[in-house]
Amino acid sequence: MINAIRGMNDILPDEAAKWRFVEDTTRRIFSLYGFSELRPPLMERTELFLRGIGDDTDVVEKQMYTFTDKSGDSVSLRPEATACVLRAVIEHGLLNKDPIVKLYSIGPMFRYERPQKGRYRQFHQINAERLGEDGPLADAETLAMAYDLASSLLGREALLMEVNSLGCKACRPAFKEALQQFLASRQDSLCEDCRRRMHTNPLRVLDCKVPTCKEAVEGAPFIEDHLCDDCRAHYGTVLAGLSTLGVRYEKNPRLVRGLDYYTRTTFEITAAGLGSQNAIVGGGRYDDLLSTLDGPPVGGIGFAFGMERMIMLMGEPRELIEGCFVVAQAEPRVEQEALGVISELRSAGIRAEAAFGKSFKAQMRRADKAGYPICVIMGENEINSSTLSVKVMSGHVPQRTIGRKAVLDEIKSMLVHKGENA
Ligand code: AMP
Repeated sequence: MINAIRGMNDILPDEAAKWRFVEDTTRRIFSLYGFSELRPPLMERTELFLRGIGDDTDVVEKQMYTFTDKSGDSVSLRPEATACVLRAVIEHGLLNKDPIVKLYSIGPMFRYERPQKGRYRQFHQINAERLGEDGPLADAETLAMAYDLASSLLGREALLMEVNSLGCKACRPAFKEALQQFLASRQDSLCEDCRRRMHTNPLRVLDCKVPTCKEAVEGAPFIEDHLCDDCRAHYGTVLAGLSTLGVRYEKNPRLVRGLDYYTRTTFEITAAGLGSQNAIVGGGRYDDLLSTLDGPPVGGIGFAFGMERMIMLMGEPRELIEGCFVVAQAEPRVEQEALGVISELRSAGIRAEAAFGKSFKAQMRRADKAGYPICVIMGENEINSSTLSVKVMSGHVPQRTIGRKAVLDEIKSMLVHKGENA
């Protein structure tokens, strides 16, 4: 019997619904941020990855599926999407047509890694790239988009977003030197790879998972102490932007990422419940990558989601309607008020419905059957106190009473995060 290749999985029909749900949610959320889809091929010239990712990375050094095709060219199955998307942007002159380009792609990646839970040889990523905006708020928005997707699928409680700045061409060399000096004094405790990386790419040593290396770098200098004024200001504004956007984050001064091309903002989202392979999203800014690939000197920022890891954590998706059901006590005054609330919700782009004149129980039943995730409940008490009661239909979240004026914002944010209890 011929089995599938190790680390390459079938997605069987009963799992496919979850995959579709994740893809649909991605398309919906990313289009809210103005991103469009690009679908690059699965295979590229090997040189693209050598130049784009850096030949001193694990991905390129050890994990690429590379072979010579029948015409003698070296080709590789893509281990990540950024280099492919940027190649397409440059090849088709997309930045000449529009100086700001926002793209996403969804599809399989290939890395020859040791398969284990959450780590496969063919796996799928959702990838986003935002090119042509250098300002820090573009970073904040991009991180918020990743956070929105993760939290709408997994809920905020499970997530940890960590952020760092890796500096730029101006300030990183001095940090590298300080780090190299520190590492030289700890050489004997470093693994073989790190003893080599210490000279070629010392930042990568901070990312090594070998326990003796982890211990050895504990007292290493922090890049934040070496940032130039521009990078420091950029980082500060990114963090302020994240707060404005309601993203819960932590600074992690040790966060570096496996690929060489990152500058300034870098981030990762991890999720509880995945064991050691707990990173679901990683990304950051890359101001020099387009020019490295012979493109225009334009900066960008992007990220990649691991779909398998996200799907492992998700419950069964529910077919929910994007909206809320207004349950009104069968009193003319209350029903008139409910009519006003429904109209406000619809004006804000939220689907809303009611079933006037029915009993409370019948209205709730109808809301549930139709698949509304949220009910707004209105009675005499609510009207007298200028409040509304809001009930989440799934799980055991207690009903909440909120001020009449706050209700639109509240329901909008609840709809974005409605997957929390899925
Ligand atoms: P990276 O491109 O290495 O930054 O990875 C981005 C995300 O892709 C990670 O956070 C993981 O969720 C996922 N990922 C990376 N490598 C694998 C793999 N071999 N198997 C499954 N998921 C992966």
